[in-house]
Amino acid sequence: MKIDRCPACLKSGFETYCNSCLKKLFDRKKVNHQLDFTRPEFNSAKLERSDRLSISGVQIKHSLKLENNKLLLTEKDGEYILKPIPGGVFKNLDQVPCNEHLTMQIASQVYRIDTALNAIVFFENGEPAYIARRFDRTKEGRKILQEDFTQIAGRTEETNGQNYKYDFSYEEIAELIKKHIKPYQIEVEKYFRVIVFNYLFSNGDAHLKNFSLSRNEEYGDYLLTKFYDLLNTSLHVPGESDLALDLFKDSFETEAYKAGCKFTKPDFEKFAKRIEINKNRFIKIYNDMLNKSSQVKALIYASFLRNDLKDIYYQNYLERLENIELVNCSIGS
Ligand SMILES: [Zn+2]
Repeated sequence: MKIDRCPACLKSGFETYCNSCLKKLFDRKKVNHQLDFTRPEFNSAKLERSDRLSISGVQIKHSLKLENNKLLLTEKDGEYILKPIPGGVFKNLDQVPCNEHLTMQIASQVYRIDTALNAIVFFENGEPAYIARRFDRTKEGRKILQEDFTQIAGRTEETNGQNYKYDFSYEEIAELIKKHIKPYQIEVEKYFRVIVFNYLFSNGDAHLKNFSLSRNEEYGDYLLTKFYDLLNTSLHVPGESDLALDLFKDSFETEAYKAGCKFTKPDFEKFAKRIEINKNRFIKIYNDMLNKSSQVKALIYASFLRNDLKDIYYQNYLERLENIELVNCSIGS
């Protein structure tokens, strides 16, 4: 597959990964973006069951390891997660890998969200796949204790039903973060930014399993892990809810929300207050997320997404941006 930009950071003028990405993703090994095998067979037995239509329910993950500068499929000791094009009934599924890659790159490059390192690779037949470097091992290969929020909240399919990953609120996740993390004020701001990001980029599938804590080896306390599985689900599941979980634990709704404007500034302001981010910090964080359009646009149009979807992706973002800037709602008034 001939390309003209780095398939990790999307900088132009490279025929494979740039040096900076080789260093971060592959410890300077000269890995090529072209794999010499085709997509592993689709095994529907591994699919998750849920009564909710979701992208994560159809996404199959494989493990890769690096051997002599080559990425190979492996059953154990995987260093990378490989996510090929998923099967299923949703729209534009062949664009899922490039969508996830783009959304993760926007999160890290534009919003400085600490994300899993990631890139696009191509199978032998030219089909793209998304890869992410695992972050649950130390440099020496020791496993880092990591738990997602279904585990932290003690929720399972057996005890809480098929919707166990979704019947929860972002406010309750923040309460669990407070319970388990000592530097709460620092970590909760990172968490808040991701919730706003998910709304801005139409990620309607950020459920309990998409947030995790890891144990700090040095001090024994817990911190949020890097963020992962960020993608614009509206390209594939139109009409999906705006956020995967409720913002508030008690079904609270602002006047603007009740009036039909969905999420506007008063919603996020109230949410920030509930999770103990003070007003000045809220204003700073929020305003900082509003003026990134030119950087976002540049990355969208440098991405591997199909051209017509680039336009839709950018339009969706502009609409959400306009919405979160609103301070009151005029629909129905
Ligand atoms: Zn690069």
